[in-house]
Amino acid sequence: MSGVWARVGYRVTIVTMEHSPRSTLTYGSMLLGREGVVVALLRNTKVALVKLDESYELPQGTRRWPVAWDDLVLGERAGVPDVSVQTYVAGFSKAGRALEQHAVLPGTDVAVCSSPVKPLPFCGWSLSFSPTVPQACPKCVMLVEGSQLEGRGGSAMPVPSGS
Ligand SMILES: [Zn+2]
Repeated sequence: MSGVWARVGYRVTIVTMEHSPRSTLTYGSMLLGREGVVVALLRNTKVALVKLDESYELPQGTRRWPVAWDDLVLGERAGVPDVSVQTYVAGFSKAGRALEQHAVLPGTDVAVCSSPVKPLPFCGWSLSFSPTVPQACPKCVMLVEGSQLEGRGGSAMPVPSGS
């Protein structure tokens, strides 16, 4: 399953409209043939959240659509990721007794690693995702920083060592 996470940031084309969530199928005829970039995984990685290149003539100009992998053809990795670390807000899930911090795209309640998350009650979704804190989810860090490194030619952020 872990290979699926690597698909975030790849270009996709919507080629069929048979397996996707109902909310997407409703607009299937308008979405067929559109191209976009995978920005997140939903539903235990079974569904890709696809950000379309343009809003076209879609309802409310919605650009992010959940599309099943079976309805997509995977293309190349997008040259310049259009999401940066600063784009993500922090969402939290329980990991044993500790809270784990995940990267979440604003407007969704699923982390980029596809864990369901909630905001901190007293901060709402205003808290930015911090890849350097100890409780940061390793998968989210990998996904978020992976796309950063691709875009910046490998200028790695120093990883804190020790405790
Ligand atoms: Zn995560």
